[in-house]
Amino acid sequence: MITGACFCGEVRYEISGRLYDARSCHCSRCRKAFSSQASAYALVDDAQFRWVAGETLLTSYVGERGFGLQFCSCCGSTLCGIHDGTVHGVTLGCLNDDPEIEIARHIFVGSKAGWEVIPEGVTTFDAGPDDDVNDG
Ligand SMILES: [Zn+2]
Ligand SMILES: [Zn+2]
Repeated sequence: MITGACFCGEVRYEISGRLYDARSCHCSRCRKAFSSQASAYALVDDAQFRWVAGETLLTSYVGERGFGLQFCSCCGSTLCGIHDGTVHGVTLGCLNDDPEIEIARHIFVGSKAGWEVIPEGVTTFDAGPDDDVNDG
């Protein structure tokens, strides 16, 4: 069982299966959405995802193409990505446990911030797939 929670701990979830396709997106939109140099995000099967506590504290922001993010209205942690109303993936930063996967690819590195230094040896792509959570 994989569990996750926001910074204040009021919103909690559990995942009965495995995460997959962990990625980090360095585009300018993800920098804003994740308040960081990049996203850290993995996909999840919606049927295996369950809110355990605090679901009423969630606030959603949905972009033009149906992708959105859900965050704790109390502490501001971004917990998951949604697509057409169902959970699409989770932010790796809110996991409580080791998900036993690693970020396999760094996407949109071609538009990374000038202040970010990408470590040697990571797999990078100048652009990325169009299923990025904040892509539109
Ligand atoms: Zn919170
Ligand atoms: Zn992005």
